[in-house]
Amino acid sequence: MYKAKAYSAASATSPLASTTIPRRDTTEHDVQIEILFCGICHSDLHSVRNEWSSIMPTVYPIVPGHEIVGRVTKVGTKVTKFKQGDLAGVGCLVDSDHTCPNCRNDLEQLCPNQTLTFNSPDKHLGGVTYGGYSESIVVDEQFVLRIPANLNLAGVAPLLCAGITTYSPMRRWGDLKGKKVGVVGLGGLGHMGVKFARAFGAHVVVFTTSENKKEDAIRLGAHEVIISRNAEEMRSHAGTFDFILDTIAADHDINAYLNMLGRDGNITLVGAPEKPLAVSAFALLFGRRSLSGSLIGGIKETQEMLDFCGKHNITADVEVIPIQKVNEAYERLVKADVKYRFTIDMASLKV
Ligand code: NAP
Ligand code: ZN
Repeated sequence: MYKAKAYSAASATSPLASTTIPRRDTTEHDVQIEILFCGICHSDLHSVRNEWSSIMPTVYPIVPGHEIVGRVTKVGTKVTKFKQGDLAGVGCLVDSDHTCPNCRNDLEQLCPNQTLTFNSPDKHLGGVTYGGYSESIVVDEQFVLRIPANLNLAGVAPLLCAGITTYSPMRRWGDLKGKKVGVVGLGGLGHMGVKFARAFGAHVVVFTTSENKKEDAIRLGAHEVIISRNAEEMRSHAGTFDFILDTIAADHDINAYLNMLGRDGNITLVGAPEKPLAVSAFALLFGRRSLSGSLIGGIKETQEMLDFCGKHNITADVEVIPIQKVNEAYERLVKADVKYRFTIDMASLKV
């Protein structure tokens, strides 16, 4: 065991502050990674503030962060995929049971015995796992991703969660070429959803509450932008969408978006608001519409997504911050004031 510098929160109302945490020594299948960049996902904020207390209560102190890229500093004797000096990524998962039907189908994100990157029981050290707001991490090589060499690393970090969370449901829905696809909420997840939907050949429409994101939405790949607070704009698109990805992090009227769908259209929720959403049965019945959910993606699909990004030169649009600005970044995240992902430059932890 060794000590690593990190940022943690001591309670739901405490700011994140400098600390040290234990990390395990590399076992034979482990990879030790020096973390270079870590994205700030809204899930970090939900967890730090214990907003998901009824589903996943937060154990304090918490070290969040599951959009990790870095360089391999050490490998265990049986590691085959990585060597010292390689680039490496870690997303939301660091372990699973490897034996359940979901694991056997490359769906480790649905394994009932999964270990999340932070706030999960730590099988090695006891206590809970600590995430990427830290100078290093040690992870079983099966949960470590290869990073395409041609991409900007600060922009790669968010692919490990925001990227796979939007890529996976769109791939699962089927061929989006020529389909009318909506992305609701232009934040970290939403802006990746726009990039992927465009890359998959869809007609992409962004729903946003922020007038000032209109031009960016087009630059990011949207064909059209709807200001969701404008009832007239909303009405003119009713019943026309094939697929909508809803990334909103807060309470909202899901029925307004269900009514945007055409026959057999689907809304997939990836946003995880604190409170339940009220669904109108009629918004589903008329049009035979469906509402479903999606959780990140498995390791194999995450690698596929990263390789796709390497090939198509896709990364997140990031505002790189030093870790000392993390609390400020959280306040801005709550106000939807991020263009379009904060990424922490982990070198700032050393000063
Ligand atoms: P984010 O960067 O904060 O983006 C969320 C966006 O939602 C905002 O930028 C804003 O977009 C919109 N929004 C926020 N509050 C709203 C409100 N009250 N009404 C309407 N729109 C609102 O967050 P994120 O990191 O993309 O995460 C989004 C959600 O996905 C979070 O709940 C997060 O926990 C969840 N998540 C789920 C998974 C999964 O596996 N399913 C993975 C990662 C994250 P506009 O300004 O454009 O309106
Ligand atoms: Zn996330």
